[in-house]
Amino acid sequence: MSPAHTQELSAEPEPVPRARKRLASASIDGRLPDPQARERNVLITHDTRCALDAVVDLVNTAPEDDTADGLANLPALHDFVRNHDISDVGTLSELDLSAVRKIRGRFAGIFAASDPRAAATLINELVAAAGTTPRLTDHDGYDWHVHYFAPGASVADHLAADGGMALAFFVVAGEQERLRRCEAPDCRRAFVDLSRNRSRRYCDSRTCGNRLHVAAYRARRKEAAG
Ligand SMILES: [Zn+2]
Ligand SMILES: [Zn+2]
Repeated sequence: MSPAHTQELSAEPEPVPRARKRLASASIDGRLPDPQARERNVLITHDTRCALDAVVDLVNTAPEDDTADGLANLPALHDFVRNHDISDVGTLSELDLSAVRKIRGRFAGIFAASDPRAAATLINELVAAAGTTPRLTDHDGYDWHVHYFAPGASVADHLAADGGMALAFFVVAGEQERLRRCEAPDCRRAFVDLSRNRSRRYCDSRTCGNRLHVAAYRARRKEAAG
């Protein structure tokens, strides 16, 4: 976990007991979990967050009108696996590449789901096909959490199992609508809205929100000057 990541997830100014720091969990609004708030807030463990980031980045490698496929070849898949610390996936092959591209399409479908029931159906199919083996682990200093991918799973099955369960978590929490697409006119990138009041409309990747702010600012100035 990078220092920036820690800061983002634990924005609470008060001192926090060591055990809770090590939990490395966060509620959706960026506060550390308070026992009484557990039932109200959506808590995201470190691993869920990592799995979500991997899913979002995977979906966003899909080619668009103006962009090439971010998973065009095996080296690109190697980079993706390394950047997301996807462990124990063995030697990657062209079969892995095509399997990951198929999984990418299925994740895109989940982001496009119109309601929780549609999302649940797609997630169930994805996770069932991945052959999950839920198991508790406390690796690398993180408190107990569940890994879903089966030991020896291919990279596609690994992504489908842990990414699928990370998305399932949002359906369970009644938060499926946080799985979004950027609303900037020329951008349809996927993102997960982790803002307190589900108000985020634009992705980070191309600073879409910023660009729109600048455009709105220029338009206002033009109006004021004209
Ligand atoms: Zn883990
Ligand atoms: Zn965008």
